[in-house]
Amino acid sequence: MKKISILMVALLFLSCATTGPGGRKSLILISTNEEISIGQKMSTQVESQEKVLPDTEVQDYVNGVGQKIAHVSDRKDLSFHFKVLDSKEINAFATPGGYIYVYSGILKILDDEAELAGVLSHEISHVVGRHGVKRLQQVLGVQVVLSIALGSSSQLSQDLVSTSIGIILQGYSRDNEFEADQFGTFYMEKAGYNPEGMAELLGKLDKLSDKQPTFFEKLSASHPATKERIARVAKEITGFGEKTKELPFYKDEYEAMKKRIK
Ligand SMILES: [Zn+2]
Repeated sequence: MKKISILMVALLFLSCATTGPGGRKSLILISTNEEISIGQKMSTQVESQEKVLPDTEVQDYVNGVGQKIAHVSDRKDLSFHFKVLDSKEINAFATPGGYIYVYSGILKILDDEAELAGVLSHEISHVVGRHGVKRLQQVLGVQVVLSIALGSSSQLSQDLVSTSIGIILQGYSRDNEFEADQFGTFYMEKAGYNPEGMAELLGKLDKLSDKQPTFFEKLSASHPATKERIARVAKEITGFGEKTKELPFYKDEYEAMKKRIK
């Protein structure tokens, strides 16, 4: 009996939230404010453990590209934050609430701004699809996720935040990854970037995967094969039509920024 009433209360608060382009909706138990609170706590922890790259020009450049894409995304209820972490790792990740991190290692393997837009739009799309919140909900349960949002600075709360970061870094399901590629390609084009940048990015990661079994969100065995992702992105790009081919890659701008990274 008690269980049923808890469920009914939960259903009362259940909101129908936008989780993709074209007004796609999903039922989400965690409100935007709670999601932001979780993201803030995770970002504080990330930045206390990892080194933020101390180069304002590089940070501003990456943030500028990120904001351009965030602006055309379907999460107008969030402020997005983009930061570069000083690490050789070829990786990027997003916490719930719009805190996106790219490692300087991934910036070094990219050759133009459109490829960077590919990385950032993929991560923005995980936030749009609320993949992080859904994953935490699934692994920890709604009650625990809500307790993180409301949490204090106690050791237990800190430990839960650490656990959440670990869960996010493990990566998402195949479907979530395909979705992040698909929405990401769509947002790139909408922001005026040549969406071929996404295909180029995935092509680079595919080549690297022979040498490095884990990269880009710590891809696990369940991660969709990169070749399948490339094929799907190519199909998405074909759907945009001829005019998209003229969209810029911003190679010179990117090369100038990249020189600053050691
Ligand atoms: Zn992803």
